[in-house]
Amino acid sequence: MMISEFDLISRYFANSTGQREDVALGVGDDCALLRVPEGYELAVTMDSLVAGVHFYPDADPESLGHKALAVNLSDLAAMGARPAWATLALTLPETDLEWLAAFMTGFRSLADRYGVQLIGGDTTHGPLSMTLQAHGFTRPGKALRRNSARVGDLVGVTGTLGDAGLALMPEYDAGEHRAYLRDRLERPAPRVEAGLTLIGMAHAAIDISDGLLADLGHICERSGTGATLNLEQIPLSPAVLAYVKKRHDWSIPLSAGDDYELCFTVPTGRRQEVEARLLDIGCGLTWIGVIEGSAGIRCLGADGREVDIGSRGYQHFHQT
Ligand code: ADP
Ligand code: MG
Repeated sequence: MMISEFDLISRYFANSTGQREDVALGVGDDCALLRVPEGYELAVTMDSLVAGVHFYPDADPESLGHKALAVNLSDLAAMGARPAWATLALTLPETDLEWLAAFMTGFRSLADRYGVQLIGGDTTHGPLSMTLQAHGFTRPGKALRRNSARVGDLVGVTGTLGDAGLALMPEYDAGEHRAYLRDRLERPAPRVEAGLTLIGMAHAAIDISDGLLADLGHICERSGTGATLNLEQIPLSPAVLAYVKKRHDWSIPLSAGDDYELCFTVPTGRRQEVEARLLDIGCGLTWIGVIEGSAGIRCLGADGREVDIGSRGYQHFHQT
């Protein structure tokens, strides 16, 4: 079916999400016009998903719509920012209206959950990819940065680690856990409430998109610290626990990406407060180690001895 670009935009993007009061003008003109509330800073982030790199070209479009927004909301969560707006650059190989409708259904349901309004974007013809920009609000000086971990801080993580990574191992038969793992890969739940809750309590935070060791490594490098982790305390779902027991391979929970959980550091005096407040919002929390002065991340086994973990997480443009 032929459809003009104008019709496409008015049918799928204009008014696709709820209208916010801070949007003076949304989709439809050359620019959107927006109002950052008095006393806040604007937090801005962007992530691309490219067919063949981040997802299979025949991936379920509804899940893609969810994930494209989720990975951006996860970045806002990691800063403790409250989501507000999004822009969407879509490159489509053909005008597949069914695909587009499903994509926007996935996008809209997550956007609506967090009151995010789609305020503009661009639609072009070419190899399938989607780039999303998300905007949120933080109080000046309050955002959770990577550079503020301090020696003695406890290292906490939300949820469980390695689920998305295990879903990406096609040769591993996860049996009864298969649907759970696929859901964790395709429909990550951004930890927005957890990020907002950690404001004023956590020193540093990051979302785990490239693997725990890589992402905690970013906190440590930027903070001029190191860390020691206890392997036995890494939170694992039954699916990943079964895998680790079977293969004795910790690289999935430690180095696989795409979980979009938060990793953060907290001074010991705040431990109970953080536990209580994350429990209040129903967010799983596990303390996995401590920030130390000497650089690098050390992993201790059950016997207290250091375990050598090879791979450091997924890196684009990795030199081999
Ligand atoms: P221009 O040519 O002036 O850049 P476009 O024709 O690209 O305008 O877009 C018209 C309007 O539709 C703009 O407001 C733009 O932000 C919006 N728009 C285009 N594509 C998308 C999209 N994929 N998602 C959201 N809004 C979009
Ligand atoms: Mg344009």
